[in-house]
Amino acid sequence: MTTVFITGANRGIGLTLVRECLNKGYQVLATYRSKESTQALITLDQQMSKLSLFQLDVTDYQAARELADVLPPIDILINNAGYFGPKGVGFGDTDPVEWRRVLEVNTIAPQMLVEALYPKLLAGHDRKIVCLSSKVGSMTENTSGGGYLYRSSKAALNSVVKSLSNDLAPEGFTVLALHPGWVKTEMGGPNALITAEESVDGLLSVILESNTDKSGRFIDFRGDELPW
Ligand code: NDP
Repeated sequence: MTTVFITGANRGIGLTLVRECLNKGYQVLATYRSKESTQALITLDQQMSKLSLFQLDVTDYQAARELADVLPPIDILINNAGYFGPKGVGFGDTDPVEWRRVLEVNTIAPQMLVEALYPKLLAGHDRKIVCLSSKVGSMTENTSGGGYLYRSSKAALNSVVKSLSNDLAPEGFTVLALHPGWVKTEMGGPNALITAEESVDGLLSVILESNTDKSGRFIDFRGDELPW
């Protein structure tokens, strides 16, 4: 049976990933940051015996290592948790404290989690690592400027994915940077173009169909490759 580990699972794309993976019959290890916002996950947990919930702030690296010790082998790690930072802030208003926070959640934490879970990923069958990136992290796609905090964090995450794909190639890992589309969630907002269900449907197809040939690529939810 496939075992999937998903961060930021209490809402948005993460929650939909949990639901769809359970529908496929996978064992799902889902993490949430704070107990206050977990009602939807708890309801799923009561319905689905293959769901295990764990509290984890992805920037608490000691907690991530301790959690790793009690987990079973993992086939697919999905680094989904993300933070946009303050919205509507442009040139001249950069807040370095918020910038560090965005980098911590979006760039540093995914790498630290890969390192913490590495023994469990090695013990799994699929050896897939997925990072939810964003098209706005692409240099080529950046024609409008702004978004310094979030854009730079996802561009750096893409670099992390590339290095991981090279470092872990000998063990047969597939490491992907995936753009989920512009999705109607708290982060994407109500004007976004697609629902979380549409996004996750595409993301899971890309993840399941990918093999080591696709490792180190930046791909959107439709399966189209994006420029760095
Ligand atoms: P949401 O803002 O709706 O959800 C973000 C999730 O990340 C929440 O579960 C949140 O938990 C969690 N999270 C944030 N910080 C931490 C932390 N320190 N530790 C643990 N969990 C944390 O975002 P989406 O569902 O829309 O986005 C999911 C991913 O997709 C993100 O990586 C995002 O950057 C990316 N993405 C989204 C797009 C969109 O249009 N929506 C477009 C491109 C990329 P909590 O509820 O506790 O805050």
